Amino acid sequence: MRVLVFSDIHANLAALEAVLQDAGAVEAYWFLGDLVGYGPDPNECVERIRTLPNLTAVLGNHDAAVIGAMPLGWFNRAARRGVQWTREQLSPENLAFLSQLPEIRQHDDVTLLHGSPRAPITEYLLTSEEAADAFAVLPTDFCFVGHTHHPAWWQEEDGVVSDRAPRGGEVWTLTPRAILNPGSVGQPRDGNPRAAYAFYDTVAHTWEWRRVAYDVSAVQARMRQYGLPERNILRLALGR
Ligand code: ZN
Repeated sequence: MRVLVFSDIHANLAALEAVLQDAGAVEAYWFLGDLVGYGPDPNECVERIRTLPNLTAVLGNHDAAVIGAMPLGWFNRAARRGVQWTREQLSPENLAFLSQLPEIRQHDDVTLLHGSPRAPITEYLLTSEEAADAFAVLPTDFCFVGHTHHPAWWQEEDGVVSDRAPRGGEVWTLTPRAILNPGSVGQPRDGNPRAAYAFYDTVAHTWEWRRVAYDVSAVQARMRQYGLPERNILRLALGR
């Protein structure tokens, strides 16, 4: 089964549409959390995601904050304003959709979550040491995460965890055990402003990182129109 694996849309509809169009036909959608927060289109993004066939989605920390399941003090000022603005915008139906998202889902040998197996919506996996702690409590051969907005790949072999630099343009065959991050659709932070996602094949265990350009300046203009924080507007063009 060919799966689109994606994370951290952050209410950026233009980036989401670019990813869905670039990906073309897939058999399932696995979304790793943070559907809203930062961007100008929270309702449109939730509605677009809700209609995708064979969707599996988990809760992100921004989603949790918007539904009141996480304290706002956890966030910096700009993120907090985004959360508060989003809460005011969302329709009751879309808030209800976010409220029913689980923190962890499992498909056979793959665990899906936003942050880490130890703390599914809050912990960032950035280093091999953090990944090693994650492998220690991971119940499956593979784990797909988001949250850092950085494409990533950690491989565990004979108890040793190595950081394999993610590269686009190639199709990788995964072997147990591995933790992968597809990168962020709506707010990449790896210095590349193009929307990030990945393909995963559940039978062949292949993985492919992808990037696609979208109209960043149009999204920035809409964020300014809504008075969203300048810091979050500027970073979209930088991919930071
Ligand atoms: Zn995020």
